Amino acid sequence: MNIKINDNFNNISESYLFSDINKRVNEYKKNHPNAKIIRLGIGDVTLPLPKLIVDALVKASNEMGVKDTFRGYPPEYGYDFIKEAVVKYYKNINVSLDLDSVFISDGAKSDLGNIVDILGDNDIYIPNPVYPVYVDSNLMSGRKIHYLNGNEANNFLPLPSGLDNNSKVIYLCSPNNPTGATYNYDELKSWVDYAYKTGSLIIFDSAYEAFITDDSPRSIYKIEHAKEVAIEVSSLSKMAGFTGVRCGFTIVPLELLAGGSSLNKLWKRRQATKFNGVSYPVQRAAEAALSEEGVKESQKNLAIYKKNTKMLCELFDEKGIWYSGGVNSPYVWIKCPNGMKSFEFFDYLLDKANIVGTPGVGFGENGEGYFRLTSFASNEDTKEAVERLRKIL
Ligand code: PLP
Repeated sequence: MNIKINDNFNNISESYLFSDINKRVNEYKKNHPNAKIIRLGIGDVTLPLPKLIVDALVKASNEMGVKDTFRGYPPEYGYDFIKEAVVKYYKNINVSLDLDSVFISDGAKSDLGNIVDILGDNDIYIPNPVYPVYVDSNLMSGRKIHYLNGNEANNFLPLPSGLDNNSKVIYLCSPNNPTGATYNYDELKSWVDYAYKTGSLIIFDSAYEAFITDDSPRSIYKIEHAKEVAIEVSSLSKMAGFTGVRCGFTIVPLELLAGGSSLNKLWKRRQATKFNGVSYPVQRAAEAALSEEGVKESQKNLAIYKKNTKMLCELFDEKGIWYSGGVNSPYVWIKCPNGMKSFEFFDYLLDKANIVGTPGVGFGENGEGYFRLTSFASNEDTKEAVERLRKIL
């Protein structure tokens, strides 16, 4: 074929992380068929949806089979009932949103990947380590990426001090995947103030906000002026177990102006052209998940995951192993003991304790020497894993 491809794809490295992990685990299983392996590397929820969410999904599906209640294409930006549910969800944390600033999506990954469509050739600043979608989607568009170094000294929460005053696009993820680190009010305010002063845009990923238990901001809009500088991308995936149902929402405030253009208008145009909305039953399920009762039910599942992070954190406290996360996040990010590298520690854990986690280096260079453990296994398995870890750490 003689067509030209998007050459930027040649600049994206293949992600071998999870295939490499699986290869090592399968090899180990082949040689140790009786090993009872516990997976603390799972990044996906494991508990089923609360009943009231399933009921909403079923009820709406049944409506689709009846002439009077059948619905065709949904609105590209979401039905009003779900946008209103999002506005109310924010109101509960004392953030007021315009209905028109809310866009319903099939999950945060799509919007985080697609947002590059409405932005030009800016310098892009991305924390390292972090969820890889920000880097790869910007590489696909040929953008120049600068890294914001997360490390033990800044608790994996890079701040703007030391950056120049040029305008830029800044990605922030709080609570962070993989480090679980969460910006407090003052830290997040320093980013908003910096963006306001420099005419920069923040893309704020709040996919894990429902895990926050201390007084860290659950939305960037808790900070004054944030609506003038930030887009917030969020998801029901981890909050309500929607990883397989698929629903998220993105807030593009009406106040966001870049060179006189409204980012809200651009995103509307982008979505209307390339997206045909989320299915009606899923939007009804999301409405149920965002209701007061729905939040209460989902929090019961989160409490089960949190029990696991607590067990892990207590062990690392006892052993004097440095970690971040755990408190506001399903992730505990530990420093590999004895100066081991991420994959060295992976092999050590697999061999000595039959436990699988995720090597930190898979999330960026700064993750080398660190390791992510997650809370999505059962309480029983996590308890057993903690006992095994106690013996070998
Ligand atoms: N943002 C972060 C930080 C994530 O870790 C994930 C998924 O793991 C996502 C976004 C994607 O979420 P969704 O399932 O809504 O696409």
